[in-house]
Amino acid sequence: MLAMAAAELGFACHVYTPEPDSPAAAVAAKAVVEAWSDSAALAHFARGCDAITFEFENVPIATAEFLAQRRPLYPGPLSLGITQDRVSEKSFVAGLGIPIAPFAPVDSAEDLGPALGRTGRPAVLKTRRFGYDGKGQAKIDDETDPAAAWEAIGAAPAVLEAFVAFSREISVIIARARDGSLAAFDVTENRHESGILATSRVPASVDDSTAAEAVAIAGRIASALDHVGVLAVEFFVVGDGPSSRLIVNEIAPRVHNSGHWTQDAATASQFEQHIRAVAGWPLLSPRRHSEVEMMNLIGAAADGWPALAAEPDAHIHLYGKAEVRPGRKMGHVNRLRPPGTGSAWGGRDRL
Ligand code: AMP
Repeated sequence: MLAMAAAELGFACHVYTPEPDSPAAAVAAKAVVEAWSDSAALAHFARGCDAITFEFENVPIATAEFLAQRRPLYPGPLSLGITQDRVSEKSFVAGLGIPIAPFAPVDSAEDLGPALGRTGRPAVLKTRRFGYDGKGQAKIDDETDPAAAWEAIGAAPAVLEAFVAFSREISVIIARARDGSLAAFDVTENRHESGILATSRVPASVDDSTAAEAVAIAGRIASALDHVGVLAVEFFVVGDGPSSRLIVNEIAPRVHNSGHWTQDAATASQFEQHIRAVAGWPLLSPRRHSEVEMMNLIGAAADGWPALAAEPDAHIHLYGKAEVRPGRKMGHVNRLRPPGTGSAWGGRDRL
């Protein structure tokens, strides 16, 4: 989706990926399939680029630094390094005085007892690195044996965080340009199933002051990271109405699934904003023109595409991934309706 946005602005995208059959390669001017550690291939790739970005935060930091020495790399290694590790990310956010759930690093099964003393129960144990879509997470309730939770996440370096009894989850997708200017999209309301994003709806059912505070926090985080490009900040909302509180859950230093609605319901997409920022262009001021529900097509749900294709206001995006696997994001659909239609989307959370 980034490569397609880049092409529309006249850029020829070169993709570097260790994965054969990458969906990006199918729509890019050129693709190199090599390992993250192949310095000759990386140097050759850098020579062919004017600016470099990434769409995935698990690019090894050594690879990012190698490329950053050769070409402008946005977002820079600071954003990437901090957000690759849940402990450094949470410490960074807490250091800005922004509320997050109580947490404690857990490096061994023995650390779990003292960590639970800090968070209380229920709590969520998450691997520090490489976790996504609910992978590498285990909830610890009153009945849970902490040692079993430690084994369940693969006995890897982890962070324990207090379970947040949220009323809803929201996210802010914000772009920051090279000159530090910021442009945020409307706040998005997200519903997860088994740790995987199921739907994103806009407008979110939060009051204006909560939405404004979320955007302000996302802007502070992007500026403190000296981030260039799109950044997503996910929040838990605790309570309702003007007295509700925001707690930062997670930061993604990239375009984000909860911003996919911008492709069809806004005057500019998160992908175009990201490419503009990375290329050193000014940002647009994106406006949402419709109400929208983005629904992920996960695993076999993508086989339901013919029914979606028959819906006149449903915009389908299929990623062209070769293999359907349970839990794998295969595409998404953006369902649009005119602004002011109301709050109920009906029980259409599943195909
Ligand atoms: P994450 O990968 O950390 O964003 O977690 C995926 C999803 O799991 C979140 O969007 C929440 O729905 C749920 N979750 C994660 N951490 C917590 C927590 N501390 N309290 C409550 N729910 C959580």
